[in-house]
Amino acid sequence: MTVTEKLSKWYEKNARNLPWRVKGKAHPNPYEVWISEIMLQQTTVKTVLPYFKRFLERFPTITDLAKAPIEDVLLLWQGLGYYTRARKLHECAQVVMNKHNGHFPSDRKELMKLPGIGSYTSAAIASFGFNLPEAVVDGNVIRVLTRLKGWEAPVATIMDQINAFAEELTQASSCPADHASAMMDLGAGICTPRSPLCTFCPLHYDCIAYKTGETESIPNISKLKKEIKKGYVFWIENNCAQVLIRKRTEKGLLSGLTELPWNTDESFPFPADWHMTRKTVKHIFTHFDLTLTIVKTQVDSLPEGFDGFFTAPENFKNYPFSTLMQKVIKKVINEKK
Ligand code: SF4
Repeated sequence: MTVTEKLSKWYEKNARNLPWRVKGKAHPNPYEVWISEIMLQQTTVKTVLPYFKRFLERFPTITDLAKAPIEDVLLLWQGLGYYTRARKLHECAQVVMNKHNGHFPSDRKELMKLPGIGSYTSAAIASFGFNLPEAVVDGNVIRVLTRLKGWEAPVATIMDQINAFAEELTQASSCPADHASAMMDLGAGICTPRSPLCTFCPLHYDCIAYKTGETESIPNISKLKKEIKKGYVFWIENNCAQVLIRKRTEKGLLSGLTELPWNTDESFPFPADWHMTRKTVKHIFTHFDLTLTIVKTQVDSLPEGFDGFFTAPENFKNYPFSTLMQKVIKKVINEKK
């Protein structure tokens, strides 16, 4: 039996039951495949499951999503992080409506012209949504493939080899969508980053890393050193116990979301009686780790031109705050209880 056949047999019995997946054929609705793939970027399956359900209840079709205000999309995305994904999702829905009559194209080149759809997502939509023989290569798949081949070189330097091997296996499969799902499931449940369950693996007779005892050192992923940033986040109350919030600009980090004012240069935004608390909030972004100290004050009015507006904390639920800001709000509100 070939590697692809063994994997297919294993998948028949061990496939994860996921709401965005169907077995043995293309998903009847590429819209759902696309939503799941965007949500799953940098986010675990467990976290995505309830978001996916809520999202489809609110936006059952691409038409619903395209017509909705971006604020509604961001509100539903609240807590998932990487909010640029939500903005691009909304933009992409509008482009698919306007240029493709509400139907996703199956061709990868066409898919990659759409907002927020890169090489990986285009392959995933073509594979899961249209059952086309496109290799879907994510971190789980890279781990399985490099271990199978015993490739010790840094992953970044052998991506061409990895993609070629992934394509070879995909081309040999009778159902590309199932094959892609099987690779991912094997990587997620058996060929795990630490202590892979090799004795349960359908491919262990084929696996070089298993035979040579190198499963812990393959794949070779050299980590980039992350920047550490510190700053202040400001809890500014007025005389009615309302708190100052503001909307971020439409571009850059956490674009368009609501926030309490904050900075990373540890300066105060205007002269006031600032009270430094001992409370800090930590958050990990893709390219840096951030620690914010909570600083409070009460003001009668704001300096002219200072951005933002006051609202009662009970109304915060109506605004799309990032996970970082939700942590800050929770800390301050819990302290008051
Ligand atoms: S034998 Fe072990 S290391 Fe090799 S593919 Fe299977 S789980 Fe991964």
